[in-house]
Amino acid sequence: MSAQTPPTLLKLAMQALLRDETLDMSALDKLPMVFFPALFKEALTGRHTTTVKAMVAAWPFPCLPVGALMKTADLETLQAVLAGVDTWLQRKFHSRRGKLQVLDLRKKHHEFWSIWADAEDGDCSAETLDEQQVVKALPRYALRQHLKVVADLWLMYCLNEKQACFLHWAHQRKGSIQFCCMEMKIWALPVYVIREVLNVFHLEYIEELELNMLSWDLLKLLQLTPYLGQMRNLRKLLLASIFKTVFLIGNRTTDREEKCVRNFISQFSKLNCLQHLSMNGMYFLRDHLKQVLGCLMAPLETLSITSCNLSQSDLNSLSECPKLFQLKHLDMKHVGLTSLDLRPLQILLENVADTLQSLDLKACWISDSHLTMLIPALSKCSQLANVSFYDNYFSMHNLRKLLQHTANLSKMNVEQYPAPLECYDELGYISTERFTQLCAEEIDRLRAIRQPKYISFATLICSRCGERSVYGQGLRLCVCQQR
Ligand SMILES: [Zn+2]
Repeated sequence: MSAQTPPTLLKLAMQALLRDETLDMSALDKLPMVFFPALFKEALTGRHTTTVKAMVAAWPFPCLPVGALMKTADLETLQAVLAGVDTWLQRKFHSRRGKLQVLDLRKKHHEFWSIWADAEDGDCSAETLDEQQVVKALPRYALRQHLKVVADLWLMYCLNEKQACFLHWAHQRKGSIQFCCMEMKIWALPVYVIREVLNVFHLEYIEELELNMLSWDLLKLLQLTPYLGQMRNLRKLLLASIFKTVFLIGNRTTDREEKCVRNFISQFSKLNCLQHLSMNGMYFLRDHLKQVLGCLMAPLETLSITSCNLSQSDLNSLSECPKLFQLKHLDMKHVGLTSLDLRPLQILLENVADTLQSLDLKACWISDSHLTMLIPALSKCSQLANVSFYDNYFSMHNLRKLLQHTANLSKMNVEQYPAPLECYDELGYISTERFTQLCAEEIDRLRAIRQPKYISFATLICSRCGERSVYGQGLRLCVCQQR
């Protein structure tokens, strides 16, 4: 629209309505439905909180995806929306306007606004816009009897004032409103706060849960055990940083601890939809991976076990679990495999040869003999697109063998290999010249067979500056090598 274009009748009407501070429910009840979306947008972005409150209470459509408009909204605007819901709840008689079923606070694009924006732009007449079209855009949890409030929660370290305001409001209304959260991320909050949050929401709606405790002990995690089992539609679960600080007598694990761990893990058998499982720094996984995998109800797409201390029996369970045979992503970085027999990993790779797309074995500290065992299976993983082998001990000879045997993997995109052992001197310091020469040679050899896209070789992390030298698109040396 150019600067000269006169405002449409709709715009003029909206401006008049927004100027009217006395706009109340009875006036809104008479307002044609087609005015609502555009007027609400204007009221919200212009922070006309009285109008926002009145419009929420009189909203004539089944869904109000207000979160899509609130990406930068302030506390006052949120309070106005929530106050509008309160008024809606208090209205004894819901006229034709009283159709609101879902208030969606998720800050995601919502088709509802696009449909109405098209209508305003004249792509179709607002008057003829079929309400069915809007209803069709509603998610599956809508179109039911009681008001649902949908929100995604990302609570990092502490609650900000808008989160605190919403949760306080929700806590007081959990009897009259159904609160649903599809995506919940909680980092480093006290366990009593997490329990309060979980008590507000209907847990069966949670599809993605990330609990990063930043050094929690098992006792705290156990307080969440009853909640986990209720999340029956959980597709994605990430648990991180559970340390051992309780139950320990000397070096012996007590029976009580064992019982608690088993009880926690047994909840996994209630997660019928789980497809992506990530466990980072979970000390109690040692000697319990078999139980975890045995509890899986659906085939996993992603298995991520990182910074964990696994036993041989844990590793063995990887080759025995049919629920892993369709894995697309396997991440075992920072799991020390040096002293383990990798045959089960080899078997797993053979089993997932048709599906595996990414493999991360960074910092597993494996050596040539391990690599030799894995190469035949790796060469069959036809879908592999991303691999990382940084921080392992491979000689030039075996690294070359790996590259030759995986040269036919046409989908390969990002490849990260460790600098061959021959690049280090007797004291473990890198020889920049040798590093550059050997890596350049290897990339040239590979180019003769296929075109690598993002290939890099990296040294171990330098003990002096904490960085690594990387040879990829060019040479990037660690800070001390640059001097
Ligand atoms: Zn350095």
